[in-house]
Amino acid sequence: MRTCIGEPERGAQRRRAVLGACAALAVACGLAGCGPAGDGARSTPTAPAAAPTAAPEPKLAVVATFSILADMVANVGGDRVAITTLVAADSDAHVYSPTPANAKAIASAALVVVNGMGFEGWIDKLIKASGYTGPVVVAAEGIRAIKAAQHAHGHGPGHAHRHGELDPHAWQSPVQAQRYVENIARALIAADPAHEEAYRQRAAAYVEALRRLDEGARARFSAIPAEQRRVITGHDAFGYFGDAYGVRFFAPRGMSTEGEASAKGVAQLIAQIRAQKIRAVFVENISDPRLVEQLARESGARVGGVLFSDALSVKDARARTYLEMMRHNIDTVATALGADAAPPKP
Ligand SMILES: [Zn+2]
Repeated sequence: MRTCIGEPERGAQRRRAVLGACAALAVACGLAGCGPAGDGARSTPTAPAAAPTAAPEPKLAVVATFSILADMVANVGGDRVAITTLVAADSDAHVYSPTPANAKAIASAALVVVNGMGFEGWIDKLIKASGYTGPVVVAAEGIRAIKAAQHAHGHGPGHAHRHGELDPHAWQSPVQAQRYVENIARALIAADPAHEEAYRQRAAAYVEALRRLDEGARARFSAIPAEQRRVITGHDAFGYFGDAYGVRFFAPRGMSTEGEASAKGVAQLIAQIRAQKIRAVFVENISDPRLVEQLARESGARVGGVLFSDALSVKDARARTYLEMMRHNIDTVATALGADAAPPKP
């Protein structure tokens, strides 16, 4: 049986959809009289306006490990992709426990998109268990990686993680995010070459939006004295953000949200906030705010707001997409550090 869509068939459901589309195209062709149905059966240039419309093409089934990647895939894939997100918005991918439904989604996917650099510690096992043998694209492939030990700037209390590992939170830099988008676009084109042009165009538009976002952020932060650009967050998720805009982030927890911060670490951080006159501490959308609030209370720093670190939010309209999330983070940090471009809060 010839497939008329030119895509690999995956799973019974998908096969049914493909066959359905074939049948509909055959009907359309028959009525329009487009001759022997060859591989070009999809183009019906002479079809009259009254011709029955073909069933919609089956979408490319893509699995993304967490909400930020899923949004990037949606931007590049447009209406060509059907995305399953494993770790939903407002959830923490560091401590995620995969479900049987996740394995099922992977088994019937045409492409799996992961961050890489150890962020999804559970993904290799999950893919193996699912039996999936298709392509896995590492979105962070080719980025300029920051070592986990490097971005905490010295040996402060934010060192619960093991040294020598790479910091996986590269999406926190709009510059690195452009690599993500390029990697995702390349993978979508490889999986669905018939729509290469559309993927290319959408990726280019998205990269341009990221470039503009970065440009605006650079202008904003360069107006703030460098020694003023120091903040506290719950966990070490902002190394790439800090690297891009010269902001130093300190965190009571290490790279992961797993585990407790030590009492000694918290005490050191309070001393550091006072000594370095750190202006603001931020809570994160994925973790318990109490530790950071305690830091603020005991050090006299103020809570500068919520930063979105490892997940988008559906509860909070400020971070429904990656672009919204980054705009919010940039604006929130810059405002708390005293950028004069920000309008005063009412
Ligand atoms: Zn994280």
